[in-house]
Amino acid sequence: GNRTFTMIKPDAVEKGHIGAILDQINASGFRIVAMKLTQMTTADAETFYAVHKERPFFGELVEFMTRGPIVAAILEKENAVEDFRTLIGATNPEDAAEGTIRKKYASSVGENAVHGSDSDENAAIEGAFHFAGREMF
Ligand code: ATP
Repeated sequence: GNRTFTMIKPDAVEKGHIGAILDQINASGFRIVAMKLTQMTTADAETFYAVHKERPFFGELVEFMTRGPIVAAILEKENAVEDFRTLIGATNPEDAAEGTIRKKYASSVGENAVHGSDSDENAAIEGAFHFAGREMF
């Protein structure tokens, strides 16, 4: 697969890290196929994270992801899903490798700066959730 879906989450947008994160994404060889500043509604976040609905942190996750704007984007590169997850680092920034986006910009396991799709199938679903065909380049 050659595409993945990402969000720069509300914590990183609030702290002014959009530019630095996009620079690192571009410098790592990803092409931006689609991108926008948007805010998820509660219904959007509950749908997007439905796989986590039984987890104890689900309510907190929905609150967090809806509290302000995010940058949603589709990225293209050979081996995009796996390479992007390497670039962002572990879910918990304490476990994330040096130099990864989460190591540099995440505050906690919940407020962890960026999302990256975990499979080609989910990348396609998540990209289609946020973008119409005419918004993809
Ligand atoms: P993402 O799907 O955002 O790329 P991930 O695949 O690294 O993250 P998941 O385990 O799928 O992590 O969890 C999805 C999101 O839920 C995390 O990115 C984080 O924002 C939140 N989350 C995960 N674990 C916790 C936790 N223990 N406490 C609070 N929030 C959490």
